Amino acid sequence: MAYCFQCGTELNEKSLENNLRLICPECGWVYYPQLKVSAAGLIEMEGSLLLVRRNTQPWLGAWYLPAGYVEADEDPAIAAAREVREETGLIIHPTVLFGSYYFDDDPRGKGLLLVYHCDVLEGNITINDEVDAVGFFHPASLPKQLTGAGHDRAIKEWASRQEVWQGQWRQGIKH
Ligand SMILES: [Zn+2]
Repeated sequence: MAYCFQCGTELNEKSLENNLRLICPECGWVYYPQLKVSAAGLIEMEGSLLLVRRNTQPWLGAWYLPAGYVEADEDPAIAAAREVREETGLIIHPTVLFGSYYFDDDPRGKGLLLVYHCDVLEGNITINDEVDAVGFFHPASLPKQLTGAGHDRAIKEWASRQEVWQGQWRQGIKH
């Protein structure tokens, strides 16, 4: 149940501009929901990518980049570092943005995934309740089952960039 931000009246669901919106029957205030923001860490070691396996729904048993929702008062880069630490035990420093991915396939809501390149500062890999496995994957041998919510596309984009880079490197060696 939701209430009007202006007058406190209970909101009604109505069609507005072809979308169902929560509208205040008293003062006409409209609640416009916004995208969720999640942040992930991209951690590479010797050409392989760190992935974790979910042991909760949605996407139970699928692999993804260590990630989670950004708190309302948190810098997304800091959120990425926090999630990496919670899910893998590694202490990292987010450097630059790898990419951003809009997603509409998460039953918890549509959103935007921000993926940060990370430098590992310290720590040993340990796993928590949200994940049941951690591994490094070469671009040619990624797990078959990847989560949605932007992760599948981010991981495949990373793999295709690695393959291009490795192809150029091999060509460089040949000449
Ligand atoms: Zn109102």
